[in-house]
Amino acid sequence: MEEDKSSGTSNIEVSIIVPVYNEEGSLRPLYDELKQAIQQIDRNSEIIFVNDGSKDNSEAVLNQLAEQDSMVKVIHLQTNFGQTAAIAAGLDHAQGDIIIPIDADLQNDPRDIPRLLDKLAEGYDVVSGWRKNRRDKWFNRTLPSLVANKLISIISGVKLHDYGCTLKAYRRKVIKDIKLYGEMHRFIPIYSAWYGAKVTEIVVNHRPRRFGKSKYGFERVIKVILDLIVIKFLGDYAHKPIYIFGGVGILSFILAFLSGLWALYLKFFHKISFIQTPLPLLFVLLIVLGFNAILLGLLAEISIRTYYESQNKHTYLVKEKRNFKQ
Ligand code: UDP
Ligand code: MG
Repeated sequence: MEEDKSSGTSNIEVSIIVPVYNEEGSLRPLYDELKQAIQQIDRNSEIIFVNDGSKDNSEAVLNQLAEQDSMVKVIHLQTNFGQTAAIAAGLDHAQGDIIIPIDADLQNDPRDIPRLLDKLAEGYDVVSGWRKNRRDKWFNRTLPSLVANKLISIISGVKLHDYGCTLKAYRRKVIKDIKLYGEMHRFIPIYSAWYGAKVTEIVVNHRPRRFGKSKYGFERVIKVILDLIVIKFLGDYAHKPIYIFGGVGILSFILAFLSGLWALYLKFFHKISFIQTPLPLLFVLLIVLGFNAILLGLLAEISIRTYYESQNKHTYLVKEKRNFKQ
């Protein structure tokens, strides 16, 4: 038998992760295309299909694929947890040093995989796909995504055109500590860039959906924007929440002090009684707000410490170590 470089169980170099929700029609053609791509890159690979609680025949099709090819690994989730959770499950089980998530619906093109790897080999840690010529409905998908991408790019400071494209290539070391919530798989490049990863993008092919239907509509834009606020907050202040809460608190105290002074000034120099202006009320309100903000900040400090310390998380990422035993 000829040596099949890609089906060895150990020393897996590349893990392809496919989140699957009701994609029965696409799975076999996708598998064929992935196999071709893997043959071309000629590296030890695994394909991890994560069945995200599909209600169609996907489960049976995936089991058949796993039966016929040991390179195919399948994780069936108990129910539908969403694309991000499915990708996270794949990441947790992936063995390769290079991780490539790809959509199951054939909209991403496996022929781009070798190009992603070539770019990675130039010394990047993350290569993101850019669906420059996106083949989705313009008004409720492509347009909102254009706006969202611009916004994310400005707020995150990581300049990419298409955060939402699932097809990307990552070096495992830059993503192994990232925990994914909500719609956040699209923000992995941002996290990694904040931790010093070298991030770039290449234009990838995008195809219209052939089988099944899209799982998302316009409401996803709202989720993405809310996630963005969380990301920004976590990125800037996760280590020191008291800086933002305390900042708001101190600002409130200053404003309270100014309204108090103003009220006194009006009373003693212009004979305007306290009850004639809203200033005393504002004074009290701002004092209460200030205390609350600072107390919330302290609470956030406690929870962030629990977060890092209970899970042994680090506030830094080591690039390399020399002369250490492990
Ligand atoms: N998906 C998933 N769980 C979900 C929704 C979607 O695993 O709850 C998968 C889906 O099967 C596909 C990918 O995520 O492989 C992207 O979904 P879809 O094609 O519907 O998104 P779009 O391309 O329209 O943005
Ligand atoms: Mg799709």
